[in-house]
Amino acid sequence: MPRILLLGGTTEAARMARALAEAGADAVYSYAGRTEAPVAQPLPVRTGGFGGVAGLAGYLRAEGITHLIDATHPFAAQMSRNAVAACAATGTPLIALEREPWQADKGDLWTHVPDLPAAVAALGQAPRRVFLAIGRQNLSAFAAAPQHHYLLRLVDPPTEALPLPDAEAVIARGPFTVEGDRALLRDHRIEMIVAKNAGGAGAEAKLTAARELGLPVVLIDRPQVPERRVARTVAEVMAWLDL
Ligand code: NAP
Repeated sequence: MPRILLLGGTTEAARMARALAEAGADAVYSYAGRTEAPVAQPLPVRTGGFGGVAGLAGYLRAEGITHLIDATHPFAAQMSRNAVAACAATGTPLIALEREPWQADKGDLWTHVPDLPAAVAALGQAPRRVFLAIGRQNLSAFAAAPQHHYLLRLVDPPTEALPLPDAEAVIARGPFTVEGDRALLRDHRIEMIVAKNAGGAGAEAKLTAARELGLPVVLIDRPQVPERRVARTVAEVMAWLDL
């Protein structure tokens, strides 16, 4: 019987957890512990960092983990790199449950940029009303462009002052709807959107809403992760586990 560690924090990981629980698998769900009230899971949950590659390798050995599923967000690259290294060091089979990146459709006004500084530059000099849909952790990069008004969407209310002089936050947790996102963009008179190319359905609504409203989107490319086995669906992972 495999003993599985599932690295989570995403809609995809929740789906994976449901499938594992329904199959009666011996699995542990791991949260980084970034949000105050994480979504409940149908598996035993552990929370917090492992302590780098060595910490994760130690955990895999101590817990007798036979298979690791990396279902973290495509921008959680440090965790994914650590998983590759720790699995190589311990000989643990690894699979990533990774969404396809979003592809532009007819009517999309997307500018692709490689990273956060390029996204800041792509907003231009003139003050704009910007929906900054990138979560909480990387907001300070946009302090370099204080002329813009920023609308943020955060899972938890901010506990300290935002690093941007002209910003407001709405508190909400995905998955989001096109209808809701269209209303959000209209109500806040948004002119531009900055998003990470996360892929998947849970966060796609803002891009559909932007297309419908004819709004430009600055889309940040995914960070590089070392090569690993990748599955696109929960069913592929279940087949890999022989469950
Ligand atoms: P990151 O930069 O790749 O990871 C930083 C450190 O956080 C890791 O080295 C690890 O600490 C710890 N960590 C990350 N994910 C973990 C997990 N699932 N279980 C245990 N420890 C974890 O990650 P991040 O971008 O801060 O994302 C943190 C979490 O939020 C991830 O689980 C991700 O799935 C979720 N998330 C991220 C984004 C995003 O845009 N980045 C969006 C939605 C959800 P140690 O080195 O100490 O082990």
